[in-house]
Amino acid sequence: MFIGVFDIGGTSIKYGVVNENGEVISKFQEPTEAKQGGEYIIEKLIELSHKLIEQWPLDGLGVSTAGQVNSQTGEIVYATDNIPNYTGINVAERLREAVGLNVSVENDVNSMAIAESWYGAAQDVGNFICIALGTGIGGAAYTDGQLYTGSRFSAGEFGHILLYPNGRTCTCGQYGCYEQYASTLALKRAVSDYYNTDTDLEDFFDRLKAGSQQEQQIYEDWLENVALGLASIIHVINPNRVIIGGAISAQGEFLSSRIQGKLEKKLLHNHKTKLDVVCSRFGNDSNLIGAAKHYLNQYY
Ligand SMILES: [Zn+2]
Repeated sequence: MFIGVFDIGGTSIKYGVVNENGEVISKFQEPTEAKQGGEYIIEKLIELSHKLIEQWPLDGLGVSTAGQVNSQTGEIVYATDNIPNYTGINVAERLREAVGLNVSVENDVNSMAIAESWYGAAQDVGNFICIALGTGIGGAAYTDGQLYTGSRFSAGEFGHILLYPNGRTCTCGQYGCYEQYASTLALKRAVSDYYNTDTDLEDFFDRLKAGSQQEQQIYEDWLENVALGLASIIHVINPNRVIIGGAISAQGEFLSSRIQGKLEKKLLHNHKTKLDVVCSRFGNDSNLIGAAKHYLNQYY
């Protein structure tokens, strides 16, 4: 069976074909042009769907997207102004009407968690959290083998934990949110501020691994903030595993073991005895794989 899959992010739309075993058969990427708004994205999805349908005998479409999603109906229940006028659009309904296939829709970090639970970094645990570090911080939690969605499909907004009251202004309108200190954008800002010039995070990690002391201090401070927010989440959920997602997860153990080390001093005994921190198994493909699994769960 072939499932057409989409991963709609703030900067790019990844799309392709995944089979019923979760193998990525084919994948492509396009800029989202998010500022053009929700309707523009729907038009683009329809166009890309037709492109996939011409090449593959698709059973249906699975969509992973930024924003809070009613995963039963496929409606965007809330999206920030990163994608204007996206809130309220029923992505599943619009796509189904346009292409005549079954469509499922799920939030992006939830999709990642579904993929990791299926046959990735969380296949052997029922209690785990995923934290996606990027421009902001997204989250998802599995408790007793089930994805926790909350009453309005809006659980897991880890990025807006208030870490420092009256701190930095956040895109949500509050001050001092976790993502203003521990996202990869926050790390990039800290590095750029230090050097007084726009700096690439890949260059940063190269210098860090080469032993630069300045980079070491910036990394330590950032890791401290990552662990500070995580400690609160871990104390609430009591997971066996924390899975790091986002492009930075390519750093692997260089990132995960340092976060685990920082957590040691911040957690109660029972919260750390059976806890490990790892990076996503599927990296950039996790949302596509999770979108396919969500589709299978919904229709089979
Ligand atoms: Zn916020």
